[in-house]
Amino acid sequence: LLEIDDLHVRFKAGGSLFKGGARHVSAVAGVSLQIMPGETVGIVGESGSGKSTLARAVLGLTRISSGHVTFDGVDLAQQKTDGLAKLRRETAMVFQDPYNALNPRLTIGQMLAEVLKVQGKVAKADIPARIDELLDLVGLEREFAGRKPRSMSGGQCQRAGIARALAVDPKLIIADECVAALDVTIQAQIIELFRELTAKMNLTLIFIAHDLAIVRNLCERVVVMYRGEIVEQGRSEEVFARPSHAYTASLIAAIP
Ligand code: ATP
Ligand code: MG
Repeated sequence: LLEIDDLHVRFKAGGSLFKGGARHVSAVAGVSLQIMPGETVGIVGESGSGKSTLARAVLGLTRISSGHVTFDGVDLAQQKTDGLAKLRRETAMVFQDPYNALNPRLTIGQMLAEVLKVQGKVAKADIPARIDELLDLVGLEREFAGRKPRSMSGGQCQRAGIARALAVDPKLIIADECVAALDVTIQAQIIELFRELTAKMNLTLIFIAHDLAIVRNLCERVVVMYRGEIVEQGRSEEVFARPSHAYTASLIAAIP
């Protein structure tokens, strides 16, 4: 479904005092990765390792310095507009901060209705029923259709964010640190929700997290990033049982 081939993303380092020769930060330094339909893949690594940059590059939100991203057979760079439009229609992202990710002026029902209208797969008359269905899927009572994010807890907002992603009916969902801002019991509930959804709906999911423990139970495959590179990847149990890179071993050792 998704093929990333030798991807590089470099940023100009700001505020350089040195003259001549711009300095660059290599946020993603030669990443190659393939995601099959229906796979759940965890990407872990410390802060600054390039996880979000990779996700943004895949979604066409950040300029690629070199390499290729192919989504569902379409190369993003070669068919700039077509490839990107297709990608935007068929992927959805769940963000870290549930409050900032949702439009504060819209009720959850209005927000979902808007996504469904843009998506165009659900007939106008069926939109209210689909909204009920989406709320059910993410474990929110139907009265949340009339609530605004401000009146909801972080966990409830995150469920609404997931409902919005599902409303897109995407081929791929990328969740970037979507539980990092929640407290531990709510984290567990949201991860359990993702687990139910992936089992039920055959979602393809890229789940980004700092913490290896979080992806262990959710993802079949785990990819470990360190300083812009993939230093290890494999089936979750195998990576846990036999980490081949010292950095992965240190991540596993850090799990309480
Ligand atoms: P975190 O776990 O903290 O979210 P991350 O793994 O998602 O970290 P990125 O946000 O991808 O890391 O950042 C990777 C590197 O790229 C960092 O050194 C960061 O400072 C740099 N970077 C990211 N975005 C930009 C930007 N727009 N301009 C300049 N440098 C950037
Ligand atoms: Mg990040």
